[in-house]
Amino acid sequence: MRIGAIEAGGTKFVCGIGNEKGEIEERIHFPTLGPVETMDNVIAFFRDKRVDSIGIGSFGPIDLDNASPTYGYVTTTPKPGWTGYNFVGTLQSVFDVPIGWDTDVNAAALGEATWGAAHGLDSCVYYTIGTGVGVGVYIEGNLVHGLVHPEGGHILTRRHPNDDFIGICPYHGDCLEGMASGPALEARWKAKGHTLPNDHQAWKMEAYYIAQAISGVILTLSPKKVILGGGVMKQAQLFPMIREAVRTNLNGYVSAASITSDIEHYIVPPGLGDNAGLCGALALGVRALGS
Ligand code: ADP
Ligand code: ZN
Repeated sequence: MRIGAIEAGGTKFVCGIGNEKGEIEERIHFPTLGPVETMDNVIAFFRDKRVDSIGIGSFGPIDLDNASPTYGYVTTTPKPGWTGYNFVGTLQSVFDVPIGWDTDVNAAALGEATWGAAHGLDSCVYYTIGTGVGVGVYIEGNLVHGLVHPEGGHILTRRHPNDDFIGICPYHGDCLEGMASGPALEARWKAKGHTLPNDHQAWKMEAYYIAQAISGVILTLSPKKVILGGGVMKQAQLFPMIREAVRTNLNGYVSAASITSDIEHYIVPPGLGDNAGLCGALALGVRALGS
């Protein structure tokens, strides 16, 4: 089978061709422009590729409700031109193949459960800590949509005692994304994250916020693996700090060995590395085939 995959990000699109084993055979990327120019590029890439299905992991918010008249649309994004854009319908009008459609982070969670760090498990959550903060949720073999789809990047957090940064979320100010995204780090410390030394206090504070979200998700959904991706998580020193802060928050209450004695294998980077997004879209394409 030849499966098409689209990682539709707010700043760049990655399109690829792969197979059911999670192997990517070919890929291209281009900047995210308006929907017409961007989709022209997508369609040009797939036009002569004879794919059997296509999976799309998209920036959002998006409509995932099969029964909705706007299923497959991007709904209310601040990205110019994309609000109300019929993403799935536009592709479907050109390519008469099954199309899988979900959020970029749900796609990444599915990719990790299929071929990556959560392989063989029936649940995981996937956080991206990048330009924004997003969370994908895979529970008991299903990607969770619920009312809209999880938006765990915007939960409210308890402020660090030494932090007087007001936060940058245009909706909530000091929500998780407002305090811990890459742009929030940069605004608080007046320097890009990758320029701050490993022992800078920024990282303890960053871990403090991320660990609150993870503790909450452990208590709420009880996932079997927590995967942390995105540009900010390239700072590998964050992992031990986050694990320690999660253990402090939970204080022995969740008595699972994964947390009490093996947390190094419980809160982990993506097994698929930088391919987590595109492989996630590929996994959606495989699933769209119904196999
Ligand atoms: P996007 O979220 O747009 O898909 P990324 O996941 O790469 O892209 O996130 C970009 C954000 O991550 C930027 O704010 C950038 O400053 C930050 N970032 C990227 N690389 C690093 C790094 N090595 N250390 C700290 N922050 C980083
Ligand atoms: Zn917010």
